[in-house]
Amino acid sequence: MYGSRYLTEHENTLMIDGVAASELAAKYGTPLYVMAERELTDRLALVRDAFLAKYPDTYASYASKALSIGAVYEQVVKHGLGIDVVTGGELYVARAAGVPAERIYFHGSNKTDEDLRYALSENVGTIVIDHAGEIAQLERLAAEERKTANVLIRIVPQVIGGAHAKIQTGGVDTKFGFSTHDDSYLEAIRSILDCGHLSLQGIHCHVGSQIQDTSLFTKTAETMMDFVGTIREQTGFTPAEVNVGGGFGIAYTEADIPLVFADTIDQVMAIIERRSSELGIKRPRVGIEPGRWIVANAGTTLYTVGAIKTVEGVRTYLSVDGGMADNIRPALYGAVYETVIANRLAGSMTEVTVVGAACESGDLVAEKAHLAKPQTGDTLAVFATGAYNYSMASNYNQFRRPAVVFVKDGVEREVVRRQSYADLVRNDLMIHQPN
Ligand SMILES: *Cc1c(COP(=O)(O)O)cnc(C)c1O
Repeated sequence: MYGSRYLTEHENTLMIDGVAASELAAKYGTPLYVMAERELTDRLALVRDAFLAKYPDTYASYASKALSIGAVYEQVVKHGLGIDVVTGGELYVARAAGVPAERIYFHGSNKTDEDLRYALSENVGTIVIDHAGEIAQLERLAAEERKTANVLIRIVPQVIGGAHAKIQTGGVDTKFGFSTHDDSYLEAIRSILDCGHLSLQGIHCHVGSQIQDTSLFTKTAETMMDFVGTIREQTGFTPAEVNVGGGFGIAYTEADIPLVFADTIDQVMAIIERRSSELGIKRPRVGIEPGRWIVANAGTTLYTVGAIKTVEGVRTYLSVDGGMADNIRPALYGAVYETVIANRLAGSMTEVTVVGAACESGDLVAEKAHLAKPQTGDTLAVFATGAYNYSMASNYNQFRRPAVVFVKDGVEREVVRRQSYADLVRNDLMIHQPN
């Protein structure tokens, strides 16, 4: 139920791995992000067992933008994964959380000199070159720092994936990566090979997010191995590393069919192994970058129900005490979430439109939600909010970013505290700082 076996029902109320959701709401306040820790660690263990341990010479990087908090990093590192970062800020947080630098991949379509200098000074494991200008930029900075950077080159495999146009990155028309519909990626590879401070390891791609169809991954693997062959033929360089990216899809609602991770991995690895032997090369080191798949289903957001307003003959609006500031995805790309009244799971159902409290008509939480006799003061739960919720949260309308609580086998612990009002003026130099 609800995308995680740790979400259960007890006496008509929602339990999150043994703790009543409404008790957590009362204790920590709302909005509140609750993570079922065992959903997170089960998935990390599956990445470890079905990929890292099963296939030698592989690596998995957790795409940290999905949820970049210390408690997640701790488990990610413990299970043998590395991480992806895209900005100096993500690198800072990861290093502060104790992620070993050699396990970090630095991505990004517009890295600044400051970003790259920081990455070099931290000795991050790999930098993923995304566009032509970055080759000379990184070579110059690495020379200044007297370092050799391990790099991958991100190419556009022209495989389209992703549930929504805004999360598709694999087609011709994208800001990410080197085009492959002409020879620009081959030219880029030649110029990287000519750089004295760049050590080219191989190729990278990421075709999109929330991919529910295994055949997209197998197509990507085939295409990447085509590129390995072409690159070898045209440049003499044999990529020693092939990263097929992230985008492993999850179930947000009952309509979604989640990707079967282990099966997808087996199919991808079979292709890469077969194509390597056809090319007469050693199978390259294979990397994956799951983000959402690791954290989304572990997360549940709890809100308190406030205003309930019926527009006669039109609809009933049910307002909660958060919304787009803590979950921008419905407004940003029409994401659909499942909701329940946590303290009254069953009862006669009413159809409502769940909206947030921000001053925007587009501040939607869930359309056509079927809730059991919703009343002001109830706890509303929204499922599968572990990815791209907290990490996309803003202070719009000066909402405070919510706390994050981990729950495991009946015991909860707060891992991120809610911002205070004082936090909201912390950087405002024209406001007297409260104590
Ligand atoms: C966002 C991103 C991912 C992870 O995507 P998910 O859909 O969360 O798995 C992986 N790789 C790159 C380069 C990304 O930008």
